[in-house]
Amino acid sequence: MIAVSSSGYAGASALGGLGAEAAVSGVPVAPPPAPSGAAMAGKQACKGIIRVGSFVVDNNNYVGQVLGFSDENTVSYKSRSAVYSAKLDELRVEVPEINGIKARDLIIDPDDHIGAAIHVFEDGRVQFAFASALHVTTAAYGEVTDFRGFSSGRLVTDPGNNIGKVLHVFQNGRVQYQVGFTPYVLASGDLALNAVWYDKNGLTEEQFNSVIDRLEEIFTPVIREKQGELRIIRAWKTSQDMAAAVHFGNVYRLTLYGAMARSPIITEDGYALIVCHELGHLIGGFPKFMKGQMSDNLSNEGQSDYWAALKCFRKFVEKDDNIAIMAAKPVDPYAKEQCERTYQGRDTETAVCKRSVMAGMSTLYSLADSNFDRFPGLLTPDSYITPATVDTHPNLQCRLDTYFAGALCDKSWNEEVSDTDHTSGTCNGGTYLEGSRPACWFR
Ligand SMILES: [Zn+2]
Repeated sequence: MIAVSSSGYAGASALGGLGAEAAVSGVPVAPPPAPSGAAMAGKQACKGIIRVGSFVVDNNNYVGQVLGFSDENTVSYKSRSAVYSAKLDELRVEVPEINGIKARDLIIDPDDHIGAAIHVFEDGRVQFAFASALHVTTAAYGEVTDFRGFSSGRLVTDPGNNIGKVLHVFQNGRVQYQVGFTPYVLASGDLALNAVWYDKNGLTEEQFNSVIDRLEEIFTPVIREKQGELRIIRAWKTSQDMAAAVHFGNVYRLTLYGAMARSPIITEDGYALIVCHELGHLIGGFPKFMKGQMSDNLSNEGQSDYWAALKCFRKFVEKDDNIAIMAAKPVDPYAKEQCERTYQGRDTETAVCKRSVMAGMSTLYSLADSNFDRFPGLLTPDSYITPATVDTHPNLQCRLDTYFAGALCDKSWNEEVSDTDHTSGTCNGGTYLEGSRPACWFR
């Protein structure tokens, strides 16, 4: 198992020196001490060589650095500023790599402690840093790029229906993921992969423009009918993470900044929903912002979300083969179930519903990600009941509930919303319970 390459304290090059002299004088050199029987037997498995300066680990899991050899079988080494001595076969020496793990690699131990490997030893033990202390584990598992579809950056749902972002995945199938700011570790088998993919780079400028073109084409005539003019300002290069709507007189203006479209997670459909939300401020109907709070009579935040999913997004995808598109995309299982239940037997509407919900998840996940906020989930609706309608941005969970409700409301685009009556063209309790504006913002 272990071969000795040097004998004598601090004599790392003693044998080499002797050899060189011997070659000059022509005198045969005595071979190094013969290894013991045990060492010979283990020679096939030999992975490392103990020399002065080598890092070794002993039976107490102390890691030390070899100072020298007091005889051919006894090593002295320094660990935590104390000097120890042990038999050769009680020590294991550091190797460059073991089980795919090298120094500085991230590892996890059986207690789910995660840290960077400092020294890896020939018997598989690894010293690593965790919680500002050094530990030695007999079972270390290195980080992998993929374990059954789990990889860094993917979104997962845990058994408590929390949605988190995967940080690291390990050889033993343990997955470290982050909910809000808190990291957790679970077996991959206890986590479900989310249908929204994190590891995208957002939209290209071309995609950004094509989404806006399509909506501009649809809504220019709609706004013209209201004697208005739709003006869209496209600021692809701007790093500001926002979009804005303004209505003055007959000018309906949207300012769309590129940063939101470049966010990871966001899909074209998700971005369309963002633009739809802005259009919703302009023509999304009642409820409106309280007078004086905003420029000219804008629909409030919750209503803009509701209208975005209920009306605008449906118009955006109207000409697509939505059944084919959704057959090729991952769909959240709860969205699938609810859309199929609501639109029983109507395949196109079912597909549009799924597409809307996935767009809503993309939009809000990208916001959650850029705000370092918790990811909202379809299975964890906001239970808050507001005493009065909230005009400002509801929290992300409440907003997802609103998009979900909009997608599940079975009222067509042609049933128009009204600027004064919230029931017009929308779902309001009764048989439309699931499609109604949620109580977390609407009263
Ligand atoms: Zn808004």
